[in-house]
Amino acid sequence: MAESHYVGRFAPTPSGYLHFGSLVAAVASYLDARAVGGRWLVRMEDLDPPREVPGAQAAILDTLERYGFEWDGPVERQSERSEAYMAVIEQWLRSGLAYACTCSRKQLDGLHIYPGTCRNAVHPLEDAALRIRVPELEYAFIDRVQGEFRQHLGREVGDFIIRRRDGLYAYQLAVVIDDAWQGVTDIVRGADLLDSTPRQLYLQELLGVTQPRYLHVPLIIQPDGHKLGKSYRSPPLPPDHAAPLLIRALHALGQQPPGELAGAMPREVLAWGIGSWDATRIPRVHSIPEAQLE
Ligand code: GLU
Ligand code: ZN
Repeated sequence: MAESHYVGRFAPTPSGYLHFGSLVAAVASYLDARAVGGRWLVRMEDLDPPREVPGAQAAILDTLERYGFEWDGPVERQSERSEAYMAVIEQWLRSGLAYACTCSRKQLDGLHIYPGTCRNAVHPLEDAALRIRVPELEYAFIDRVQGEFRQHLGREVGDFIIRRRDGLYAYQLAVVIDDAWQGVTDIVRGADLLDSTPRQLYLQELLGVTQPRYLHVPLIIQPDGHKLGKSYRSPPLPPDHAAPLLIRALHALGQQPPGELAGAMPREVLAWGIGSWDATRIPRVHSIPEAQLE
């Protein structure tokens, strides 16, 4: 296949095992990359050791292998990237864009967005959360599946945390720095992250990096409306049902795998997916109840 400038990625958080909802996101990002001869990276978003499930990192990679995924290059780990994150934060502290916030949880209790209490105070950095100032501006982008999405950062988000009081770096910061560092051109992920995207566009603007393309796939939800894997424990993907579950993920993404594929090996299912990938068939919805899938 001709050389491609596409770089995609799958970025699991090891606070749990892969479940069907994460499989749908992995399949979408993999097929979207490989269908154009692009690269596909795996990045472990292990920013929060206290919430990490022991063994989850190895289990996630093992499951990806058993399901037939092949990634390019080494698996990068966010736990090894603290220096890069801190270098950026230091720059923003110096310019006054970032500031220390000592508000207690109690002080912020019941507030929809952070009211900017510490914006002009000069607190020491120790034992403080670090926040980034947001402008009174709307950030918008065109998602390849969901269409236009816009959010006013001042009114709907507020100054947000880039490093927690306990010293852990925030997802919003790490994801932007690492996607830029790894040269990611296309972000394909679950629609639960649609409303994180304007914050990420803003940080990309501050860093002066190129904005990637975005494609948010429907979230697979439980009958009670909860996201799979998050709000309560959904079962990890079984190792021995890879092909049928990959086929189910293809259906969730609006693709139409032929019945004969049911008996195939996982890698063959993915190969069919690469050859037939049509992102315009992905349902333009934010979520799909799991029970609706065949
Ligand atoms: N680590 C995030 C998650 O597992 C995904 C981040 C992303 O794709 O931007 O929900
Ligand atoms: Zn504060």
